[in-house]
Amino acid sequence: MSFGSASVRPSATDACPCGEGEFGTHCGPLLDGEPAPGAERLMRSRYTAFAVGDAAHLARSWHPRTRPDEIEVGDGTRWIGLDIVSAEEGADAAEVSFRARWRHGSEAGELRERSRFVRRAGRWVYVDGDVDERGGRAARGEASSPNGRVGGSAYGRERILGERTRMIPDAHRDLLENPNYGSLGTVRPDGTVQVNPMWFDFDGEHLLFTHTTTRQKFRNLQQNPSMSLMVFDPAQPYRYIEVRGRLVEAEPDPTGAFYVHLGKRYGNAEQEAPPDSADRVILKMSIEKVGGQ
Ligand SMILES: [Zn+2]
Repeated sequence: MSFGSASVRPSATDACPCGEGEFGTHCGPLLDGEPAPGAERLMRSRYTAFAVGDAAHLARSWHPRTRPDEIEVGDGTRWIGLDIVSAEEGADAAEVSFRARWRHGSEAGELRERSRFVRRAGRWVYVDGDVDERGGRAARGEASSPNGRVGGSAYGRERILGERTRMIPDAHRDLLENPNYGSLGTVRPDGTVQVNPMWFDFDGEHLLFTHTTTRQKFRNLQQNPSMSLMVFDPAQPYRYIEVRGRLVEAEPDPTGAFYVHLGKRYGNAEQEAPPDSADRVILKMSIEKVGGQ
């Protein structure tokens, strides 16, 4: 984490950086740990946290599944205004669209994001968001990006509030949703890497594979749960996604039902359960880092 010297906590009676009310009665208490009364208020408090360099609040209000390992604030970007465009708040899930204006040296721009929030153990947390970069002069992949550190490309959504998110970018989601073949890497006990072509499914949160408990890959995973999956676009092989994570569960599939599901997903409408069904498991892989182009 880095905290710039520009990070200054406002006093209680200062106008709140989020543009609503006074800091001491608006975002201030949330930065001190009070639960947000709703997703929009949490959104506002996270903006304020960026504006005043409060990484602790950002970490605390970020879903653990998508929270980056490091949160950098106070890198010289000044956040100079927030507009909430819309807020759709359900009981446990919400989406908030906003525009945030920034300055960095002589550069200036506007970040537009549609952020998703969920309520978790009674507290609202930020999950991820879709960034619309047209609003800013944040040249894609150029050093003039607002934080000067995150490249452009389809991963631009990671630029600010979802920086280094573990979520799958919309631009590459189809690679996982369509029945493409994946190359799955695991680590053998002797440290060498094993790569196999795999059927897989994506449930929006995990990657799922069918496997048996009697094969080498399963033994690899017992020793080292690391898994990396690369999927490329068959029509455009330079477009690919790499997902890194680990085995979080091996669920028995003694009837081979998941194998049948995958067989059908990959085009065999008549898929039957395999003879080794008794040893079948569903490997559930977490999504912890995402790369690609
Ligand atoms: Zn506020």
